[in-house]
Amino acid sequence: MSALLSVENLRVEIAARDRRLTAIDDISFTIGAGEILGVVGESGAGKSVTGTAILGLLEPPAALAGGRIAFAGRRIDTLDEESMRRLRGKEIAAVFQDPLTSLDPLMTVGEQLVETMLTHLPIKRKEAFARAEDLLRMVGLPAPRERLQAYPHALSGGMRQRVVLALAFCCNPRLIIADEPTTALDVSVQAQILDVLRRMCRENGTAVMLVTHDMGVIAEATDRVAVMYAGRLAEIGPTRALVEEASHPYTRGLMASIPSLTRRRDTLVQIPGAMPRPDAPVSGCAFHPRCPSAEARCRSERPPAFAVEASQVACWLADPARRSVSA
Ligand code: SF4
Ligand code: MG
Repeated sequence: MSALLSVENLRVEIAARDRRLTAIDDISFTIGAGEILGVVGESGAGKSVTGTAILGLLEPPAALAGGRIAFAGRRIDTLDEESMRRLRGKEIAAVFQDPLTSLDPLMTVGEQLVETMLTHLPIKRKEAFARAEDLLRMVGLPAPRERLQAYPHALSGGMRQRVVLALAFCCNPRLIIADEPTTALDVSVQAQILDVLRRMCRENGTAVMLVTHDMGVIAEATDRVAVMYAGRLAEIGPTRALVEEASHPYTRGLMASIPSLTRRRDTLVQIPGAMPRPDAPVSGCAFHPRCPSAEARCRSERPPAFAVEASQVACWLADPARRSVSA
């Protein structure tokens, strides 16, 4: 099965005054067509940087420093700015935390949808307006015909994010990168927006990279999860496997810090200690200063990703050599 998105050995560095800091340290993963991949981790773990790198929107002092990104079989990390812009409008859409960053305050909701469609689709203005109204209905905006005439400031935060979803879907993208799409919203609205995103993806076969620090969102909305820590991938695997029996001690810590998976809160981490920052990297396994299972080797040798059933786990505990000894 060929992946829709394939990220291989991605490295992102940040130019500091006298050296280069590593923000993303050799991560690899894929997203299949129509799949929802959650990307979770503490603030500063590199989730947003990864999404930004895929979108080709890294800005100095951050820059790609290695690896490759392929979309639908084509390498995209080497595309020129114009080709990348076309790809972003049509095939890869982005949804960010703050809907106002995606909406033009001076254009009505209808104009924004119609202009986006006219730019990227072979469609007439009249059809585009009809489709815009349909899209607003699909994302659950009440009175969609009237809302076409509304300006973003006249809408609530939740309604604006519904409009952003309509914009994201209006050109039938194959992949949506959604970075904390519900974090800025009231808890009661978060679930609704997530439901819309998930339903529209299922109906349209759209894949999603859903960046979040909320394990409740992960458990409810994703097919697979990638757990990031200090710019690296700690673990990636089917959501059910990670929720029910995570292999990596960090993932287990994340799970344990959640009183209830149905309770949406932003309490990701109650693991003692802090994640190392790019300007103060640690040797060996980046999690070793906080890991309850750390041993001597963890402090000096970086664990590769080991296969554990359908998951990949970057932890020495998952080393098959070791597992066969202890079995
Ligand atoms: Fe803990 Fe060692 Fe595994 Fe890192 S490699 S998570 S320090 S046991
Ligand atoms: Mg972020």
